[in-house]
Amino acid sequence: MFDLHTHHERCGHARGTMRDYVESAITQGLHTIGLSDHSPFFGEAADHALPGVAMPKSTFAAYIAEAMALREEYWGRINVLVGVESDYFPEHAELYRNVYARYDLDYLIGSVHVLDGVDLFRKERWEQADHADLKAAREQYCNLVAQSAEAGMFDVLGHIDVIKAACPEIASIATPAVDRMLRAIADADTVIEVNTSGKTKDCGGWYPSGDILERARKYGVKLTFGSDAHDPERVGDEHENVRDELRRLGFREWYVFERRRRIRMPL
Ligand SMILES: [Zn+2]
Ligand SMILES: [Zn+2]
Repeated sequence: MFDLHTHHERCGHARGTMRDYVESAITQGLHTIGLSDHSPFFGEAADHALPGVAMPKSTFAAYIAEAMALREEYWGRINVLVGVESDYFPEHAELYRNVYARYDLDYLIGSVHVLDGVDLFRKERWEQADHADLKAAREQYCNLVAQSAEAGMFDVLGHIDVIKAACPEIASIATPAVDRMLRAIADADTVIEVNTSGKTKDCGGWYPSGDILERARKYGVKLTFGSDAHDPERVGDEHENVRDELRRLGFREWYVFERRRRIRMPL
């Protein structure tokens, strides 16, 4: 069992220290726990552009140092991987890439959380939207995720249909953009995560939805697992259910990372 997607109190909206997440992983019998807090907003002038969303820029080095110290301390008991869940802003991609190059990270998750400058988790953004607006937003989101794969800077793409989080209706809007996105991800040979935190939002369930997972299988997209825990108790949440479902869908392997190297694991 492993879990590559966890947060902790530095981001301002998660509970507990990194050690709490590592200890929870041990309690639950995981062999690998990935620490992957939200990246600071490196492209903003302010040190702490959005308290409650991500850590200050000035805290990033301390975050990595603490995670690496835990990697050493727990060696032999559990594999602690040092990662980041990075925002993907096309206009700042080079800046982010240069920051990450300074650190000996195990992996990077690339996630899109913002569309047209507005946080996707804000319910208000969807209140006035009609069907055409939702379809356009879904397509725009898929295109951004495809672009994040093509940027070639991430090992994993986070929650690739999280746009449904505060607007569950979006999940059922059909568009060829979803298949285009999956083909782009397969061509870029980037891994996507099955993320079980959808259950904590209005959409329920996992990211991505079952229909997307089926098509991902068809295109040969590779997978990993992440709980996206913002509470130590959610570490590893539904790992076994995800494994069963992926086997049922015909997947035979998934992946973890070490020093940016992809490691295949049987499902
Ligand atoms: Zn978060
Ligand atoms: Zn995320």
